Amino acid sequence: MVIRMRHTRAHTGNRRSHHALKAKNPSLCKECGHPRLPHTVCANCGMYRGRKVVDVALKTEKKLKKKSKKSEAAK
Ligand SMILES: [Zn+2]
Repeated sequence: MVIRMRHTRAHTGNRRSHHALKAKNPSLCKECGHPRLPHTVCANCGMYRGRKVVDVALKTEKKLKKKSKKSEAAK
């Protein structure tokens, strides 16, 4: 729905009554105890349903490499 004209404060308030954000529902990772969202890979250890999906160490290494390269280019 498009708001074309000025509305009363009540009208605006009524519309915004649905704008509240819902709290996220994190659960703890079974492997490392780090909080993670359901149906997502743990960002701390890269495990999902008891299986290693993401190599976190390799990823952080890559990120650092990229960052240093970027800072070098800026100089
Ligand atoms: Zn974990």
